[in-house]
Formats: sequence, C-alpha cells, structure tokens
Amino acid sequence: MFKKILIANRGEIALRVIRAAREMGVATVAVHSTADADAMHVRMADEAICIGPPPGTDSYLSVSSIIAACEVTGAEAVHPGYGFLSENAGFVQALEDHDIGFIGPTAEHIRMMGDKITAKDTMKKLGVPCVPGSDGGVPDYETAKKIADDMGYPVIIKATAGGGGRGMKLAKTADDLEVAFRTARSEGKSVFGNDEVYIEKYLTTPSHIEVQVFGDGKGNAVHLGERDCSLQRRHQKVFEEAPGPNITPELRKQIGETCAKAVAGINYIGAGTIEFLYENGEFYFIEMNTRLQVEHPVTECIYGQDLVREQLLVAAGEPMTFGQDDLVLDGHSIEVRINAEKLPNFSPCPGKVTAFHAPGGLGVRMDSALYTGYSIPPYYDSLIGKLIVHGRDRPEALARLKRALGELIIDGVDTTVPLFHALLEEDDVLTGDYNIHWLEKWLETNM
Ligand code: ADP
Repeated sequence: MFKKILIANRGEIALRVIRAAREMGVATVAVHSTADADAMHVRMADEAICIGPPPGTDSYLSVSSIIAACEVTGAEAVHPGYGFLSENAGFVQALEDHDIGFIGPTAEHIRMMGDKITAKDTMKKLGVPCVPGSDGGVPDYETAKKIADDMGYPVIIKATAGGGGRGMKLAKTADDLEVAFRTARSEGKSVFGNDEVYIEKYLTTPSHIEVQVFGDGKGNAVHLGERDCSLQRRHQKVFEEAPGPNITPELRKQIGETCAKAVAGINYIGAGTIEFLYENGEFYFIEMNTRLQVEHPVTECIYGQDLVREQLLVAAGEPMTFGQDDLVLDGHSIEVRINAEKLPNFSPCPGKVTAFHAPGGLGVRMDSALYTGYSIPPYYDSLIGKLIVHGRDRPEALARLKRALGELIIDGVDTTVPLFHALLEEDDVLTGDYNIHWLEKWLETNM
C-alpha cells in the first residue's frame, strides 16, 4: 500500500479521501489555492501545500504545480476526486511520466469515455444498449437534417466532448434544428475545444439510472447496483437515491451484469459509472464517467462498502476485497446536494458561514467541509455539503431525510435546503414517481 498520497481537490471530496486514507494508515497531502488556506481539507490532511492563486486554472487544474507538490512531499500517488483533473487523460499521462501513481483508471480509458462518440461506439460493441441516433459524428447541418427527419423529432444535439450539462441542445421540431446544431457545435468548441457533435433521439419521459461498476484492471469487475438521479435542474443532479424506486431486482441483475461484463471486457480499473436513460422497461446508454461520483455515498450506504478505500487498494496493485456474491443490497439511501445558492434563481451565494451544525443520529451521514466561521470562496463550485441518509426501506429513508434536514443549521449564506423541504411534501417524490423532466416542471410552477 502507498505510504503517502496527494489529493488534487478541495471541499467535501478532499475530506472524503482523507478519511479513507487515514483509516488505512496512509498519510495525506492536501493542495490548496491561496483562497483555501483556511479550508477544512488543509486542516485535516497530514501535510498541506499551496499550489497557486484562487482561479482553478492556476491551482487545482495546474498539472505542473500538482506534480511539483508530489515531488516536494514524496507523495506516491494522486487521488483526483471529481471535477478538476479527474477525467483529464493528459494529467494521468504526465503523472506516469514522473513515475507517480494515479488513483483512477488509465489515460486510455479516460480518453475513450471522455469522447462520447467513442464511448458509445465502444459500449455498443460490448453489448450495452444505446440511445438511438447518428452513427458517430455529424459533419454538417444538412446531414443532421437528414438524420433527424428520418429518425423523427424531438432530437438532441450533443457535443462529443460535452459534460456537466453543457454542449447539449434540444430540437423539438425541424424548425429548431439549425439553431440547436450550430449552438451545440459552438459551445463544444468554446467550452471543450472540440466542435464535433452527434444526434440522439430525445426521450420524453425517461429516468436517469446509472450503474456503479468497479474493476481490478485485470479483467475482473463487479456492479454495485444502480442510482436514480432523475431529479435534475439544467441536466445537473440535485437529489439521488439507491436503489432506483422503479427498478426490480431482475432488472438490476440484468443491467448490472451487462455493465460489469462490459468493463471487465476492457480491463477497467477502479470506480466507474455507466449512465443510462430508462424508459418503458428499456435502458439506453448515454455516457460513462471514469471517476468517483458526487453521489457515490448512496451506493456505499446500501452495500456497506467504502469505494474510496477500494480505489486505493486496486491502484496500489492489491486485489479487490469483494466479489459480486459479497455485494448484498441492504435498505434504501438518499442524498441531497446542498449548494450555496439563493432560490428561486439558484444564484451562487458565497460568504461567511456564521453557524454550522450537522445533523446526526442513526443512518445519517453529512459529507461537508463547512465549519462555523468558514468563508465560502466565490471561485469554485457551489456544492457545500451532501446530506445522505440510509433507512431499511424508502419510506424510512424519506422520513429520516426530513428529520435530518430539520436538524441542519447553515447560517450566513443561502442554500438549497428549502428546496428539499418543499420536495419532501410532494406526492410524486414520496412515491418515486418522477422522470428527468419532473423537477424543471415543478420549479416552473413552484418557484
Ligand atoms: P453530461 O455529460 O453533460 O452530464 P449526459 O449525456 O450525461 O451529459 O446527460 C445529462 C442529462 O441530460 C441526462 O441525465 C438527461 O437528463 C439529459 N439527456 C441526455 N441525453 C438525453 C436524451 N437523448 N434524451 C433526453 N434527455 C437526455
């Protein structure tokens, strides 16, 4: 096992990694920008090193600074968390060139899945069902028009390099297609440096169901069931649960085994998520994320496994500690994403936290880097905490979530907590009867 690792991230996910490492007796190095000198991850790590000024591009995204920090501190491997450099194949390559380990998949797999067209093509060949659409990239509007007319509307134009809900444009009818095509292209170019786009049938009532997979890099892989992340605003998840309220054990086994087999087939190493849209009993692959995800704790709760610990183990060349038969689903778990944002517009709301109290008790987990007196800097993502609950069944998890939200105190800044109080009054949320469009519609009439 590694003696020391460096965490190339900040906030709650940096704490999450420190916690796993500490339980394994692995020393940790935190990196931070000048804006984060007082951040909790800096306090909690064994060592900390400043890597640059506030903007992410000059600090948490600076490959040379992070490699220098590894060399100065003697860290043997880097955990990237999510976001920042976690899906940057060039970073993984640079670490390899400096003989530093990466706690995640290979550069080749990151590259393969980071390009959505290649990812879809690979998954199709591995027997994973995909959303109907163009066969690869679409070079120009005329071709797009022909494909969309043949397939029928609505369609969605997606940038192959897109992510975080960016680079996707809906065309409800043929009249919208030209604008959708051109804006998806230009957004792909300006945000991701790649203007290649493809077309998919736009599904009108699907759920977002994603399967957690884990591989050892030697052809063995398992699945840890699914998460339902359908409650989204602007294609961004806000409320996630596991298992999916509408997924039967038979469906779970079927899609889980398909996914485990697919990642075993490419010798995938570490944690990964295969995302699907699920409609009328059918799964349609949309993309694979080659990292630990924000919502991984709901899976950890129901399977009683520590995914970060497992990531460290396989990255150090050790075998996985569980096989498929060891993974038995227990109960129900829900996570809500608490952002420093002001409702109803969800505008960022950084500032000083004058009081913070995390809820506790049976089945409650709060992953957050907040503390009383902490100033949330304006430079980064607005996620400031994740409240995760676990119950014996879905009604118990919902009741526990309501109780825990009531205990949570975050004073001084606006947060998305009132949104969750309101959602827990909705029958559709209580019965699990929602799809990916439900929250947007609800926000239109309720906020
Ligand atoms: P990103 O990489 O930006 O997260 P994804 O491909 O994972 O993009 O899609 C994000 C979300 O966008 C999905 O969860 C879903 O809500 C919506 N979406 C993507 N593709 C489709 C589609 N073909 N039909 C309907 N909604 C879609």
